[in-house]
Amino acid sequence: EWVNFNDFVNHILNRFDMIVKTDAEKADSKTKKYTIKREFTNQALWVEIDTDKMMQVIDNIMNNAIKYSPDGGVITVRLLQSNNHIILSISDQGLGIPRKDLNKIFDRFYRVDKARSRKQGGTGLGLAISKEIVEAHKGKIWADSAEGKGSTFYISLPYEPMSEEGDNWDEV
Ligand code: ATP
Ligand code: MG
Repeated sequence: EWVNFNDFVNHILNRFDMIVKTDAEKADSKTKKYTIKREFTNQALWVEIDTDKMMQVIDNIMNNAIKYSPDGGVITVRLLQSNNHIILSISDQGLGIPRKDLNKIFDRFYRVDKARSRKQGGTGLGLAISKEIVEAHKGKIWADSAEGKGSTFYISLPYEPMSEEGDNWDEV
């Protein structure tokens, strides 16, 4: 399905903004508060994706950003185009991930000890599934992190820039 990726990501993030508001009204002590900051290119980025699957990827990364962050964190979501790729990044101010674990977290069932000892729920499958989905789209997923400061997850997808004027039809 062809989608404007900017709108697609915005819709997903809007849902996360809604969760904060509804749960804040319930004053549930287990609910973490967070702020989502968006830094998107103005340019419309049209891509052909499996929207259900790609939503699962962004959901997992957003849920991780919330799960592995203290209360009150800012989650910064950036969307940009670079040559023949679009890059989506999601940065949190959470626990961070030790350098030696940065690649392993994309393996099935792999969880970083520190997080596990905090009794965070989860199976350790989220990122492995996310990687499969992104690679099925011919894209890449990777992470960068500073322990104790936060993590950034990147997704790059192939992108074919289109002319601003639209298609030039041949005269018949
Ligand atoms: P699931 O997603 O299946 O519910 P999970 O969140 O533990 O469980 P993954 O999403 O695959 O599994 O993440 C694997 C591990 O990577 C996590 O257990 C955690 O240790 C680490 N991790 C993932 N995202 C972050 C993050 N934003 N900050 C710190 N650690 C993270
Ligand atoms: Mg997860």
